[in-house]
Amino acid sequence: MANPILVLAEQVRGELADITFEMLGAGRALAIASGAPLYAALLGSEAAPLAAKLGAADKVFTVEHPHLDLAPAGTVAAALKGLVDHTQAGLVLLGCTNVSLGIGSMLAAHSGLPLVNFCRAITFQAGTLTCTSQLFGGKILSDVKLADGRGIVSVYPGAFPVDAGKHDGTPPVEKVDLAVEAPKAVFKRYVEPETGDVDITKQDVLVGVGRGIQTQDNVQLAEDLAQILGGAVCASRPVIDQGWLPLSRQVGKSGMTVKPRVYLALGISGAPEHWEGMQNAQCIIAVNTDPKAPIFDGAHYGVVGDVLELLPVLTEKIKARKAT
Ligand SMILES: Cc1cc2nc3c(=O)[nH]c(=O)nc-3n(C[C@H](O)[C@H](O)[C@H](O)COP(=O)(O)OP(=O)(O)OC[C@H]3O[C@@H](n4cnc5c(N)ncnc54)[C@H](O)[C@@H]3O)c2cc1C
Repeated sequence: MANPILVLAEQVRGELADITFEMLGAGRALAIASGAPLYAALLGSEAAPLAAKLGAADKVFTVEHPHLDLAPAGTVAAALKGLVDHTQAGLVLLGCTNVSLGIGSMLAAHSGLPLVNFCRAITFQAGTLTCTSQLFGGKILSDVKLADGRGIVSVYPGAFPVDAGKHDGTPPVEKVDLAVEAPKAVFKRYVEPETGDVDITKQDVLVGVGRGIQTQDNVQLAEDLAQILGGAVCASRPVIDQGWLPLSRQVGKSGMTVKPRVYLALGISGAPEHWEGMQNAQCIIAVNTDPKAPIFDGAHYGVVGDVLELLPVLTEKIKARKAT
């Protein structure tokens, strides 16, 4: 795998997204293992100021054009194909996110490179690049080998540490002049999503409540614990559907993907749709009355017990410990 590795830096409204640094960290590990250089691609009219933040790359290539601001996938894919040709990149890393999903398949069509979607892990060993893809909401993990290490890999957010891709130092930047066609779909305006009171994707500690919490009033028991732990309360879908917490607190397939240091799953059965959103937590502690609840299959620690009995005791014990 001697050809360069090219990471498409993802930006949302002038800010680099975490996935950019996740991919740069993963790309750096591959670059070390394979001896290939690591490049970053930055597209859009505001590319130049962001390039300085990509110190983990050996070099940053920018294509500065207003047509690339919030551009549809086809426009980005065409520009990226120009950069793949310019840099002779063999491996392209893209975010498997709402922003970048769709670019990979179009770039594959333009370039003839194979596409691996939903990638959670990448290794380069004995000359072979292997990508592990997560399919069916995490029920199946599939290893895909890329011949000669060449391909397009769409990387699942939260699969790699963000910090590994953050390096001090200013990388060399090359501005590449490419003809960029006017996109067929035009961005009109940004509609702000309803803001939640707390961003659960940024919390170190999350106290997750499920249907086992039983009533809206009992959610306060979880709030008390979250407060003493310096975290926030989140929930499974039935709790949100009941209106006991706002939608911004929902974890799972149709909610948020979270990656706290600690995730307490209280009265949550561990359905695949919930598991999908919290499986990247560093430490999962489950409390459930049912010893056969599926959440125990993946949790690092489990307590078979009643959350309503445990919560007040736990909060008081932590309070007492903190006081001393
Ligand atoms: C397309 C689709 C998308 C979905 N998206 C999401 C999503 O984003 N997020 C999500 O969470 N779900 C989602 N779901 C729903 C998902 O399938 C499950 O129904 C849901 O996660 C179950 O929530 P729960 O674990 O709180 O409830 P349950 O499955 O009812 O589990 C409650 C658990 O609490 C335990 N319990 C009961 N009383 C106590 C007690 N006193 N103390 C301790 N434990 C107790 C029970 O033993 C049980 O294990 C989705 C479903 C579909 C079809």
